[in-house]
Formats: sequence, structure tokens, C-alpha cells
Amino acid sequence: MKSTKLTINKSRLLETVQISSSIGSTEKGGLRRLALTEEDKLIRDQFCRWLHEEGLEVRVDDFGNIYGRRAGRIHDGPVVAMGSHLDTQPCGGHYDGILGVLTALEVIRVLNEQNIETEYPIEIINFTNEEGARFAPPMLGSGGVAGIFKKEFIYKRKDLSGKTFEQALEEIGYKGEEKHRIQSVKHFIELHIEQGPILEKEHKSIGIVEGIQGMSWLTVNVRGETNHAGPTPMENRKDALVPAAKMITSINDITQDIKGLKTTVGQVNVIPNVSNVIAGEVEFTIDIRHENDKNRQDAIDQLKEQLSTIAVRHQVELSIQTIWDSDAVSFSPLVTDTISEVAEELNYSSQRLFSGPGHDAKYMSYLGDTGMIFLPSINGMSHNEEELTLDEDIEKGANVLLSALLKLANVK
Ligand SMILES: [Zn+2]
Repeated sequence: MKSTKLTINKSRLLETVQISSSIGSTEKGGLRRLALTEEDKLIRDQFCRWLHEEGLEVRVDDFGNIYGRRAGRIHDGPVVAMGSHLDTQPCGGHYDGILGVLTALEVIRVLNEQNIETEYPIEIINFTNEEGARFAPPMLGSGGVAGIFKKEFIYKRKDLSGKTFEQALEEIGYKGEEKHRIQSVKHFIELHIEQGPILEKEHKSIGIVEGIQGMSWLTVNVRGETNHAGPTPMENRKDALVPAAKMITSINDITQDIKGLKTTVGQVNVIPNVSNVIAGEVEFTIDIRHENDKNRQDAIDQLKEQLSTIAVRHQVELSIQTIWDSDAVSFSPLVTDTISEVAEELNYSSQRLFSGPGHDAKYMSYLGDTGMIFLPSINGMSHNEEELTLDEDIEKGANVLLSALLKLANVK
């Protein structure tokens, strides 16, 4: 088939990545391009110039998401879209999100060069504030168009200086119109770095992402009795830290019973946290993830039981609160299989996997059939100035994106 023989222009793509890497660059060779800052404006301006050069119809919506549209034979048809984000963490790298936007641009350049017409229109997207580093929570741009967050909520998000999302959007001149939001989505593909070690370890070039893990955050409070470490006999103590330590161990051990479960206790607060005082209270967090929501919920139920058994045995009070739940997302088998077929046709090694972190694709999956392509991250590193994905993997990823997009933009 013609589509699989088409390839991208590697040196042009890498040059484009290099231009991006020069906007907001840090001394240590990374990028600092927080959402809606001056640096973000500069890369947005550059991105819009690139879109105009390709003759795309450029528009900006009320969340500052930027779209470039390439017409299809079916004029008003639903779009096949691709993209990601150009904003970064405070000490970010050159690739996280950025590759998803710039490989999409390269795909458009190849289609234009070869005069290839598609059945359905194609849109390339740069989503606003994916990282959430300046305005929490993350993925505000994609969550806004997917209806996850209300416009008022998004506009009122504040950065550390108290400036709102809406003010920042106006200041850089990227407050567009609500009618410009993406409308009907046939398919969406996001290419992204893995941000984990699996592909590199398995020596695979292409990750076919089956979905995004679901996640819950809980806080656990254990209450005993504060007392002096010297005179209080061991049998009279209500030390909150000892049962808390056993709880933390059991939270780790439960992952041996449920395959694919990940649990993390990342924050512990001991009160009063003094060396000669028995801890009266301990509070800690649990981050719990699984690709299957039922398994995650079962694990939470099982943990609650285990923790209360430990609390009873140690005669301490226990309260557990769920503070955040985010369900898992399964990507479209049609998109996932298309990516897999294309990788095979191109003779690239590939592997199916689940994403730990969230991505814009999560919210886009509520609007249309969605899939993701992962590329290896050297040492699994991201949100870091040393983030690295090899040139040859970038080339392979862009080729997979090109062929997958062409297939999807031509199937009924
Ligand atoms: Zn990202």
C-alpha cells in the first residue's frame, strides 16, 4: 500500500525539534516553558507560523488550544486529529509533549509535499497547560474541550503569584473563541515519550498504548497517645507510629497479591516528630494505581480491612479518606490495532503497554476513538532536563504516526 512506503523527513523534523529546544532553554540544557508565560507565547507564535506555512486554517479556542486544519474530501466530516502539548515543567526536557506536536507537524508537511488528499479533514492540536505546573490541575486545555472542567473553573485557576488562567491567557494574546473548540472527533492520536523504563529495557522502538491506569489518592490518619519516651512502660503505650509502619508495609505487600497494582506511600507526617516523645498521631498518603478499575477498588477495600485490623490490634484510632479518584481509560482497539499493524509493516519492534501518567489523550478519548504511540525514554527519565529520546526512535515514531494517520483518515 502506498501509505506504508511514505516516510517522514528526519533531518527536517529534528531541525524543528531543535528550534523548539531553543525557546525557553535552561542553563543545564533543558526547557522551562510554563503554560501561558512569555516563553509559551514564543513557541506558540512559532507554531502558528509553521501552521500558516503549511496552508492550514489556524484557530484558537477559549482555552488557548491551537488548531491547524487541513481539509479532507468530505468537507464537513469529523476530523482525524493528532497532537499533544508544547508547555513544560519548570525543569523540563525537550521531548515531553513537544514530540507529539512536532511529529504531527512533520506528518502534515509530508502530506502537503506529496499532494496527498485524505477523505476526512485532519487537525493538529497544541493543548494548553497539560503539565499543570503553573495552573493545577494538569490537562486543563483538553479537559476543557472534553467537558471535564467548566470554563469558569479553568479561568479561575491561579498560579503562585495569584494571577488567574484567564488573565495569563489574555496577556499573551491567546484567548480565542469558544466556537473554535474541536468539534466532532473521528480519531485522535497522541505520540508521547514513555516517561518510564519499559521500552528501553525491552529494546522496543514503539509502544502501543492500550490505555491509562486508573488512580486513587487516600489519606490515612492514625491516632494514639503522645507520651514521654522514658517513663511510659511499653505495655501502656498507644504509639501511633508503630502500627502506621506496619500499615505502610502491608500497603506495599498487597501488590504481591494483585498483579499490575502499584501502591506508593510518598508522604508521612509524624506528630509531634520529636525524638524522645511517643508519636501521638501519624498521617500518610496512599497513591494506588491499576489499569483495571475493579482491581483497584478491590485493593482499596482489602487495604481498608487490613489497616483496621492493625489499628484494632494496637488500640489506635484510624480514619481513611479517599481524596481523589480517576478511572482508567481504555483506548480504542481500532486505533491501537492500526498503530500496531503499521509498526509491523514498517518492521519496527513494538510492545503493548499501559500508561502510568495521564495525558491529553485521556480526555480526548471522551470525544472520539483515541490511541497513543509511546517512544522510549532513556533511563525512563522525564520531567527532567536530562530527558532523552534517541533521534532514530523519533524518526520511527513519526513514521508510525504518518502511516496510522493516513489509514484512519481514509477509513469510513
Ligand atoms: Zn506530556
